[in-house]
Amino acid sequence: MSKDNIGWNLVNEAEKREIMAFSEQYKSFINEVRTEREAVKFFRSIAETRGYKDMPETIEAGGKYYIIKNGKAIALINLTSSPLSEFRILAAHMDSPRLDVKPSPLEEDKDSHFVLMKTHYYGGIKKYQWFSRPLSLHGIIVTKDGRKVEVKIGDNMGDPVFSIPDLLPHLSKKEQGDKKLLEGFEGEKMEILVSHIPEKDGKEEPFKKQLLSILKDRYGMEEDDFYSADLEVVPAEGPRDVGFDRALIGAYGQDDKICAYSTTMALLDSKPTGNSIVILFDKEEIGSDGNVGAQSNFLEFVLVTLLERIGAKYTYGNLLELMQRSKVISADVGAVVNPLFKNVHDLNNAGKAGNGILIMKYTGSGGKYSASEAQAELIAEIRKVLDEKRVIYQFGLLGKVDEGGGGTVARYLSSYGFSVIDMGPGLMSMHSPFELVSKIDLWSSYKAYRAILES
Ligand SMILES: [Zn+2]
Repeated sequence: MSKDNIGWNLVNEAEKREIMAFSEQYKSFINEVRTEREAVKFFRSIAETRGYKDMPETIEAGGKYYIIKNGKAIALINLTSSPLSEFRILAAHMDSPRLDVKPSPLEEDKDSHFVLMKTHYYGGIKKYQWFSRPLSLHGIIVTKDGRKVEVKIGDNMGDPVFSIPDLLPHLSKKEQGDKKLLEGFEGEKMEILVSHIPEKDGKEEPFKKQLLSILKDRYGMEEDDFYSADLEVVPAEGPRDVGFDRALIGAYGQDDKICAYSTTMALLDSKPTGNSIVILFDKEEIGSDGNVGAQSNFLEFVLVTLLERIGAKYTYGNLLELMQRSKVISADVGAVVNPLFKNVHDLNNAGKAGNGILIMKYTGSGGKYSASEAQAELIAEIRKVLDEKRVIYQFGLLGKVDEGGGGTVARYLSSYGFSVIDMGPGLMSMHSPFELVSKIDLWSSYKAYRAILES
């Protein structure tokens, strides 16, 4: 594969139709699923329709299983043979940058006649992108008596939405205009408008009282129940085709639900030639911490559970050996050249939209800090597999050497001893409420993950 091959020139009309059809399936997923909890539910249910079962006490070669951790991480396992000596593992994350609702969120502002809900941003966002746009609210509220109330409001036409009101240009000269772009919008100001009608003739906090009565009616909740809630504020708009030729998809949350989707579909649609796992984490956007992030022992737990339940007598040494022998594809998005900001890339080493799945030898920043670099031998092996299966792919790095940087789950998983490589579709406007991907890059990613499972 030469590096300047434009993917669209390499597919025939029949494959173009497949690309468009797969994109439609993906769009309906990315429209329905905005949070990691919703993603786990989606993948569990689609896996069940393909014969996957909640991990039973005893398992066997030929079985298909899943393990869910706290409703926020999931592993899908396809066992082809026993004993378990090595795995192919595809790892992605389901969380995306957003605004989380604070534990004590409601504030009545008497001067303006509004109730606002305070938020705390999650992950790397450009705050200004979240002002003056329709937002929806997703998540759960657990009441003290253990009732779990699901909240999903704002995505459907006819639903109300929420909004962070930006300042009018007429009055923003000093307040915003004299500040640096990224300082003009403070985290503490990211409050969403949630209501505006007061309790009739109410004396004390009439606006908030009226809102609380709506919440009581609708969700059966009291104000204190916000303490035990996981509520996320996300863009309300669904995915759209972009461009006259409909070659791109614009949508929120593609980092990294696009890889969560394409790895899972690759596993479900393929006939793996070896024991395979798709593992989907939470918390990548804030450092992969916590018990559902890639730094937790969830993957280790999955492997130990498999070894125990298949009835193997194994030692800690066997587990380490299994991890040394196994390969992990860290399926996460990269960046492709943005025509308006080309100067942040080294164009010889940058991903281009439409050139297929992007293989990143390393991520990190500065002098390769925080990078787990894929070894040359592993990259050569992947090249061979992708060429054999006629997958369109390219190599690229995030940006110029000292321009900034970023990481994926690769570094955490490689510390277990796995051979790890980063590969996924490249996005434009990454981490924004409207991330862009080329449909052929989405398709190539799905095909690449399949090729690796079937090689
Ligand atoms: Zn990511």
